[in-house]
Amino acid sequence: MNSSGLNQGTSGNISAAYHGKMLISPSGIAYDDLEPDMIASMSLVHEGDHYEGPCKPSSEWHFHRAILKSTPAYEAVIHTHSNYATVLSIGRQTIPACHYMIAAFGGNTVRCADYATFGTTELSDNILVAMQDRSACLMANHGMVVAGSNLDKAMWAAVELEALSRQYYQARMLGSMVLLPNDEIDIVLEKFKSYGLQTKKE
Ligand code: 13P
Ligand code: ZN
Repeated sequence: MNSSGLNQGTSGNISAAYHGKMLISPSGIAYDDLEPDMIASMSLVHEGDHYEGPCKPSSEWHFHRAILKSTPAYEAVIHTHSNYATVLSIGRQTIPACHYMIAAFGGNTVRCADYATFGTTELSDNILVAMQDRSACLMANHGMVVAGSNLDKAMWAAVELEALSRQYYQARMLGSMVLLPNDEIDIVLEKFKSYGLQTKKE
């Protein structure tokens, strides 16, 4: 996440579902210093803050676990403070259908979750509301979060959401904008169901 420019320092965090557990990056440790055995583990079945591992789990474990539990198809969650997504979140902007790639996040908008202090259940609740029927959202005055069916897909989604945020921001600078209508987003949503799936040649 650092080399892609999505995060810096200890900002952001990453989790994956694994055999009824959530594996999550530890809190406050720079990515470059991470070793595999520092990854914390928490139950996806039982509530509570119990964790296993030598380091405390990310302070954002509430929303990582809530997202993984909300939708069984999601097996990985990534949170970043990437620049353009964060700029839009400071403006409390909802990203509209300015590019067909908006459909990669499940609909015709990417919403911005209401502000709450980092690491709180309130922030987790606000994110779940903003992610209704979506696989991503911005987080007011903070950054963004994306979910995917595995770590690679979540990483792909994080890179795409930062690109979309940059494109929307720069289009706003241009001054004029044409948005795609809902029926076009419906067509793209349908096309995405088979996009990238290779059919076997006989
Ligand atoms: P952690 O180091 O606890 O994961 O926190 C980073 C962050 O981005 C909090 O929102
Ligand atoms: Zn954060």
